Amino acid sequence: MPEIALTVDGKEVRVDAGSTVLQAAQQAGIPIPTLCHDPDLEPFGGCRLCAVKIKGMRGLPLACFTEAAENMEVTSEDDEILSARRMVMRLLLVDHPSDCLACPANLECDLQDLAYELGVRHHGMIPLERQATVDDSSPVFLWDMNRCVVCARCVRTCEEIVGLGAIHLVGRGHDTEVAPFLGDLIVSSVCESCGECVVHCPTGALSFREVPVIAEREVATICPYCGTGCGIVVGVRRGKVVGVTGDRESPVNRGNLCVKGRFGSYQFVHDPERLTTPLIRRNDELEEASWDDALDLVAKKFDERRGEEFAAFASAKVANEDNYLLQKFTRAVAGSNNIDHCARLCHASTVTGLGEAFGSGAMTNPIADFDRSEVILVTGSNTTESHPIVANQIRRAVRRGVKLIMFDPRQIPLTSLATIWCRPRPGTDVAWINGLMHVIIKERLADMDFVRTRTEGFEALRNSVKKYDPEIVAEITGIPVEDIIAAARLYAGGEPASIAYAMGITQHVTGTDNVKSLANLAMLCGNVGVPGGGLNPLRGQNNVQGACDMGALPNVFPGYQSVDDDAVRQKFERAWGVDLPAEPGLTLTEITHACREGRIRALYLMGENPMLSEPDTAHVEAALKATDFLVVQDIFLTETARLADVVLPAASYVEREGTVTNTERRVQRMHQVIEPLEGTRPDWQIICDLSTRLGYPMKYASIAEVMGEIASLTPSYGGISFRRLDAGEELCWPCPAEDHPGTPVLHSERFTRGLGKFHPVEHLPADELPDGAYPLLLTTGRLLEQYHTGTMSRKSKSLNTLAPGPFVEVNPRDAERMGIQDGERAKVISRRGEIELAAKVNGGVDQGVIFIPFHFFEAAANVLTNPAMDPVANIPEFKVCAARVEKVA
Ligand code: SF4
Repeated sequence: MPEIALTVDGKEVRVDAGSTVLQAAQQAGIPIPTLCHDPDLEPFGGCRLCAVKIKGMRGLPLACFTEAAENMEVTSEDDEILSARRMVMRLLLVDHPSDCLACPANLECDLQDLAYELGVRHHGMIPLERQATVDDSSPVFLWDMNRCVVCARCVRTCEEIVGLGAIHLVGRGHDTEVAPFLGDLIVSSVCESCGECVVHCPTGALSFREVPVIAEREVATICPYCGTGCGIVVGVRRGKVVGVTGDRESPVNRGNLCVKGRFGSYQFVHDPERLTTPLIRRNDELEEASWDDALDLVAKKFDERRGEEFAAFASAKVANEDNYLLQKFTRAVAGSNNIDHCARLCHASTVTGLGEAFGSGAMTNPIADFDRSEVILVTGSNTTESHPIVANQIRRAVRRGVKLIMFDPRQIPLTSLATIWCRPRPGTDVAWINGLMHVIIKERLADMDFVRTRTEGFEALRNSVKKYDPEIVAEITGIPVEDIIAAARLYAGGEPASIAYAMGITQHVTGTDNVKSLANLAMLCGNVGVPGGGLNPLRGQNNVQGACDMGALPNVFPGYQSVDDDAVRQKFERAWGVDLPAEPGLTLTEITHACREGRIRALYLMGENPMLSEPDTAHVEAALKATDFLVVQDIFLTETARLADVVLPAASYVEREGTVTNTERRVQRMHQVIEPLEGTRPDWQIICDLSTRLGYPMKYASIAEVMGEIASLTPSYGGISFRRLDAGEELCWPCPAEDHPGTPVLHSERFTRGLGKFHPVEHLPADELPDGAYPLLLTTGRLLEQYHTGTMSRKSKSLNTLAPGPFVEVNPRDAERMGIQDGERAKVISRRGEIELAAKVNGGVDQGVIFIPFHFFEAAANVLTNPAMDPVANIPEFKVCAARVEKVA
């Protein structure tokens, strides 16, 4: 970047060409007052407080809006400038209440600070009559336009950072204020309650309802919710967590948070329902016990059930080190490969499908790469609700002109931004993907250089998609022919084009096929291994990627090294000093069956709640009850923990050190914020203690030492250490050596498996389709304001107010036929069971389709879902089953 030189108040300063006068002055250490300026936003030039003098220019140009030029001479302050600024300030204050002591922004208000700085105590004018809006409809923030200075920072934040544009400047002149479209209440608008506008408001116009407690110290760590892995800064006062803000140093979110991260990521830590003592079942009641008694009992029972009778569920919510140690415990101590976790329920088909196509089952490109795409295709991902900060990135890209293609059966927030929205029938993904490839090949839009040099198996693919002409695909999927052709042309024309997908693709009996199909499409257009391209599975939970990486899977050690590979197994046997089982173990869904059949007699669950997360709840309950000895290690007495023989109270994410790996393979440090609640212990220490009691001492001086062992045995983590992460290095695996910088984009030169492999894939119907008895197609998913089985998010009052309970979304035509009005109670019945909940009647779902979020135990969607599985990945078909809805009299 070329530099230019100018002077500010006679002081020479050199800045990058394109910098503003304000930036030049700041670089020279010369303060210029601003109110509407925000370094995170585009220059606005609204408040006029940054007026300066520039030699050769007329009047008082605005420093924030004027580009610095070579040899420019700037005067930042003199009597004339000060007088103009004071006049601006008086005009700002004329309508502003002078009740600072009653203002939520008192002492943290830019207006107040600047008024004092400029010496303006009173505006000295007669205020005009004004009836400004006060909107207190939001459960998380307050809206008082009497305190607004119309700097538009909130409006610009919502547009430029969140990419949403939920609020605007409305009215004219003196009556201008900020409001949602058509002056709606904020609660009825498209606002997502992320609070980013409040953070950027310079006055008390927007404030959080919960009065912030002033923290004594702050510690940076990682949000405990979704796989985006946003950095948060946790405030502590008197040993208690009192608040959370976004971490501006985080390369993932740069300080921005979604509603869950901001309003729900810490309230559960000190919730009175936290488990703080071990529990042992006696006379069919869970009774409090000492740690020694509980661990002795667990050790004794596990000792009696080693080998094939033992199984463990690791967790996508705990650290890499915990998962590493639990799989080590399962293999080295219990002598079993029966270890799995809930990745089986979300992205097991990604691991299998991409593993076969590319050699590595992970997101190929970093989140920030959506900025570099020309076209983004999103399918099976309600990104704004499941990965909100990723969605912000996509929305910002669309605002800049990137084309968005959506394939989703539901009308979701992103569909309104799409250039093309195709609405396939659930369970028809292979058909539409083959249809796109049919058009791309027929119209010679494929990247044949890439196909020839980087892939194998193209001829078989070409033959297999020949029959998927758009007419046939339209019949199968319900997507109009012209939309299939248009989407194919748009995707193929994107240089580069990226694909993002989530569980709408993976949670099917054809999950592996769906993923392979998307891999075919990406390779066909040469969109793998390039910045801004790629195939990007958005992983659900904050450490689901890490739990897979750590070998919490039945067939692989850490780093996806096969347990049945003799050389690999011998490496681990040498390192761990024991013989290890060579046969792959059972998957999570198979373990549940094995429990019910009495083949698994001891089950150790760390941070998992299968009673809500697995399909067919009645079957899961029967399986857990059939187990001889069930141990649950968690922070709350979950629906699953209530069935346990022993419950071990774990420390929460702010009470321990560790690392987590986000959806883009970025390994990040979790820092301990407070001491573990009295009576609780970090997961890794519990596992070590248990292991030691079972005669296999696990002695680690610190958790950093566990990461050292992981790095020594896991080539893709070989160069990752606490030391490097604490020094601020940004490391995405593979990072094989201490001097390796990490790999943000996978498969650049070659695929992990060498050549990328095309797999011909045929469309197959879902396992259970609607029929006369069950005429509707049920699909399930997430809500923005709740998380997974609700164990943590439902402890937040704010989140509960925003998303209070379960509902079934019904198309208006279906509702009319069934005589059900919006808000009425309905019964949803499938072949597995029935639940009762409120009906939400809207066009979000197509006719014949219903949707239920799966977070709520009181109407658990998984009572209904079909446990039929993908034969390769063993992932259940959560996204499609047949159901019927009845009005509750
Ligand atoms: Fe937390 Fe995900 Fe929201 Fe980021 S996007 S704040 S990680 S829930």
